[in-house]
Amino acid sequence: MIAHSSPPVMDDAGFVRMLREFFAVALTADLREAGRDTTGVHSEIGACRVWHRRLYERGWIAPAWPVAFGGTSWSPAQRLIFERECAANDAPVLFAGGVRSLGPLLIAAGTPEQQRRYLPAILDGSDLWCQGFSETGAGSDLAALQTRAVAADGHYAVSGSKIWTTGAHIANRMFCLARTARGTKPQYGITFLLIDMASEGITVKPIRTLSGDFEFNEVLFDNVRVPFANRVGEENDGWSVAKHLMRLARGNNTTSGLLWRAHRKTAQTIDSHGGTARAQLRQELHSLTCELTAFEMLELRVLSRRHYDGVGSVEASMLKTLATELHQKLAVHLLNAAGIAAAASGATPSPWTEVGAFASRKYLATRAASIYSGTNETHRNLIAQRLLS
Ligand SMILES: Cc1cc2nc3c(=O)[nH]c(=O)nc-3n(C[C@H](O)[C@H](O)[C@H](O)COP(=O)(O)OP(=O)(O)OC[C@H]3O[C@@H](n4cnc5c(N)ncnc54)[C@H](O)[C@@H]3O)c2cc1C
Repeated sequence: MIAHSSPPVMDDAGFVRMLREFFAVALTADLREAGRDTTGVHSEIGACRVWHRRLYERGWIAPAWPVAFGGTSWSPAQRLIFERECAANDAPVLFAGGVRSLGPLLIAAGTPEQQRRYLPAILDGSDLWCQGFSETGAGSDLAALQTRAVAADGHYAVSGSKIWTTGAHIANRMFCLARTARGTKPQYGITFLLIDMASEGITVKPIRTLSGDFEFNEVLFDNVRVPFANRVGEENDGWSVAKHLMRLARGNNTTSGLLWRAHRKTAQTIDSHGGTARAQLRQELHSLTCELTAFEMLELRVLSRRHYDGVGSVEASMLKTLATELHQKLAVHLLNAAGIAAAASGATPSPWTEVGAFASRKYLATRAASIYSGTNETHRNLIAQRLLS
């Protein structure tokens, strides 16, 4: 469908050289600064759009997609190298629900018409997608969701509300779960819909996070018309579609690339501001480096075995839980390093206080990591159920 030239098969050293040559030109100083300044799940949206476009034009925006749909032919190891190099070069963190979650779902389960309509716009960055699943009273217990979709005249009329919707204020589209029927099981009667955020009847209300960032929202729907053609899967069977998407998203959400970014920031802070505690802080960071490398090996194993339609649910839950806890440990270590810097700087404004402010924001932002994409407690339940059954 999309004709991008794939790189010829090459060894890893040649692959790294190719990436670095591109980054040296495409990652301008302002993009690198936006990458460095990121504490939450994506960088400043202007930088995200520019970086998305540059990767698209190079044919590298969706390395994990099949080549026929616009992906690269990189090996799993090369995809991880790409993540590492993005981290090492301070590339912006993309707002990538389309590339990471919905696109792979449509490739696996969308109609040919949905693939034709939506995949090119995900790749070129003209469509940004947010996820409308959670509601007040329906987070871990997602099947309790109440947002209704009533079918009539080739459309659903959607009414209700979603909460904690990351990027609803910047996305022009949402993939959403709504209730079309009730049955003996709450999972029955849920339908997976694709919604244009410009539709009449949608209101987006911002929510500010503990760290001061503004990333997520409440979204209200008042009789929003959604054509039947925007349904993925069968009516009332959206639960299985959502499970499929969540397997894809959870394996993708906190990648080793994101963790290497946090690691790099921590190492830099120790080097520049660690003072007399530098040796001890480095030693402690070393054990986190080992954990991160072990995580990367697990990620590689999963990527290597993975069929395109997603990782197994136990593997996805393992990756999500391990990655988010490691992210939090790295943020704590960054805060420790910055705290020593702050103590040494006293009350005098200096770059050290900037370091402290960043570390505090990063620490607070990563608290959310064990909550989003399903809490770590519910993932542990899932792992236990699967392994014990
Ligand atoms: C930063 C951030 C971004 C998010 N982005 C999105 C988004 O874009 N789209 C979207 O739809 N949602 C999003 N969410 C929502 C997220 O998916 C929910 O917050 C999450 O599923 C938890 O639901 P809840 O907040 O209702 O908490 P609850 O489900 O009420 O859980 C409260 C506590 O109880 C624990 N708990 C609940 N059930 C069990 C159980 N059975 N066993 C053990 N412990 C349990 C939980 O682990 C948690 O500690 C986001 C959340 C955050 C923090």
